[in-house]
Amino acid sequence: RSKENGKDRYTFFQADMKANSETEAKIELELDEAVKTDRFVLAFQPQVNLRSQTITGVEALVRWDHAERGLLSPAEFLPVVEKSRLAPVLGEIVIDKALAAAKYWLESGFDFGRISVNISPSHLASGQVVDHFKSAMAKHDIGPERITAEVLESVFLNDNGSGHLAALKELYELGIHIELDDFGTGYASLSHVVDLPINGLKIDRSFTKQMLEDPKKEAVVNQLIHLARSLNMGIVCEGVENEAQYDRLRMMGNFSIQGYLIAKPMFFDAMTNWMRESADDLYFVI
Ligand code: C2E
Ligand code: MG
Ligand code: MG
Ligand code: MG
Repeated sequence: RSKENGKDRYTFFQADMKANSETEAKIELELDEAVKTDRFVLAFQPQVNLRSQTITGVEALVRWDHAERGLLSPAEFLPVVEKSRLAPVLGEIVIDKALAAAKYWLESGFDFGRISVNISPSHLASGQVVDHFKSAMAKHDIGPERITAEVLESVFLNDNGSGHLAALKELYELGIHIELDDFGTGYASLSHVVDLPINGLKIDRSFTKQMLEDPKKEAVVNQLIHLARSLNMGIVCEGVENEAQYDRLRMMGNFSIQGYLIAKPMFFDAMTNWMRESADDLYFVI
């Protein structure tokens, strides 16, 4: 009897696996088409210093403008991209579009600080990421002092010959800033932060969200801010949604914040308008 159950489960599992890999294969074909027909769009979200309230950076966030299903968020397609040969292909597209936008803003006279690009583990491991940055920098005439690469802390944990670390060191030596994204959610230890080529930490929005109710989360945020300062690293606190969070963070130090309180991610034209408007008005938060 148990053997039968086992067999049923086995059959079910196999069927499920097949369905998933068929779906993934279909998505992969569609992704190929989307690359060829230029269906990837960037949204941009500003980062501002919480004291001066001036812009210190802009994060580029990719969306897939799907022909039938409309705009898809990264969570809906990045997992498939990561497992496919398309990771460096999409990565290159994002870098190119992000630097093109940066060029336009600089030429329009907006000092937005740095353009921040999320770099996936597969792209980092592909051996192509440094060339992708170098060619986009040359094409758009953007210097490394204008660029941040955001990487997940997991890329530091299991290098295992993947080449993640070598690629990051090359980017760092070029002068591109490296920031650890979603910091606090993975397992990076302090020794990683101290020894590796990192210019800044992005405190994950789960901490920002829980900080007001949970004194332990607040203590972690406080310690990260002090740690960053003593290591001469920058901080960006993610997911700031309300003034209560903003006020609490403001008491903790002088750093940058990002979140719906400041602005939701916007497409290029809206981001450009936002820069134009906020250039005349320093006090757009309170
Ligand atoms: P992330 O890099 O941590 O980006 C921040 C995410 O939080 C974005 O979601 C943003 O829209 C959202 N967010 C910003 N402020 C708030 C807030 O105040 N409240 C809440 N609830 N959410 C906020 P999005 O655009 O859906 O991106 C999700 C993740 O997908 C990103 O997390 C990043 O890991 C990945 N991603 C996005 N674009 C790219 C890309 O071009 N390349 C790669 N490799 N990954 C990307
Ligand atoms: Mg990010
Ligand atoms: Mg993040
Ligand atoms: Mg995140």
